[in-house]
Amino acid sequence: MPKPTLAIIIPCFNEQEIINRSIIKLGSILEDLQKKQKISSKSFLYLINDGSRDQTWSIIKKMHQTNPKSIKGLKLSNNFGHQYAVLAGLLHAKNKANIFLSIDADLQDDPKIIEKFIDAYLEGNQIIYGVRRERKTDSQFKKITAQGFYNIMRLMGVDIIFNHADYRLISRQVLDELEKFPEANLFLRGIFPLIGFKHKIIYYNRLERTAGISKYSLKKMLSLAFDGITSFSIKPLRMITWTGFIIFFFSLIMSIWVIIDKFFIGHTVAGWASTVLPIYLIGGIQLLSLGIIGEYIGKIYKEVKHRPRYIIEEEL
Ligand code: UDP
Ligand code: MG
Repeated sequence: MPKPTLAIIIPCFNEQEIINRSIIKLGSILEDLQKKQKISSKSFLYLINDGSRDQTWSIIKKMHQTNPKSIKGLKLSNNFGHQYAVLAGLLHAKNKANIFLSIDADLQDDPKIIEKFIDAYLEGNQIIYGVRRERKTDSQFKKITAQGFYNIMRLMGVDIIFNHADYRLISRQVLDELEKFPEANLFLRGIFPLIGFKHKIIYYNRLERTAGISKYSLKKMLSLAFDGITSFSIKPLRMITWTGFIIFFFSLIMSIWVIIDKFFIGHTVAGWASTVLPIYLIGGIQLLSLGIIGEYIGKIYKEVKHRPRYIIEEEL
């Protein structure tokens, strides 16, 4: 079997403090793998600048000039978000490599295990998922929200790999299948388990960010969680239906009781609590339900517009 060409896809958003170091580190890993004859000499790093507002792109350009063959770059015209930056990188590297690894620019996902990914591919696996063994370096808040996220996803019946983010290696064949998913609401972690093929999980310890701050604000985290659930599960809509049924059932019993009370028992002094409480309760449930339905309509709206998922401004 000929040695595969590896493309390492690195999404970068305002990573000027760290990107230089990350390129050097990943570059040396690439060289090492080439020396060990595991990957071809055409393998390269692919830095995807996701509309950074700092010096990230000019640093990438400079690094490209020092080694144009193995450091390549792609500049998106705006901040399209992490998922779309990864997608842009994958689709644009498609004809330049046989295997594709996505990794965060801060190298919190231990790059030393890339060799294990390659070995797993050579053993015949088409998707290799990196899974965090522990979250020692994450803040308590990140731990709790992340755990809650995976649990809710499971509850909603979405098949995702527990504690796997976007650190994964895929084959050309898998990428060809990914290309057939045209959805505007992209949640890669949900798509790959759907694609199937032979896969392997590799565990690693998540390291600390060595410089800069997390580019995943609470808003971006919540939006990823909402997108993940609503793009892959219609359970929330089903839950609304069930809630409706249950409330309808109780109100039926109440109505019967009221009628009996009025005509046969005869003391219809209406209590304040029993009038006001249902108004709040049902009003709340109705608003929540409308909101959930609105989320799905918003999704449909985004899908039918068929807007491009990312726009490329420059390619190195
Ligand atoms: N990122 C991106 N676009 C964004 C936000 C983040 O391309 O809008 C990139 C970021 O540069 C990094 C990766 O996505 O390479 C993960 O982000 P980060 O490390 O800040 O997230 P965390 O590890 O805190 O979840
Ligand atoms: Mg990070």
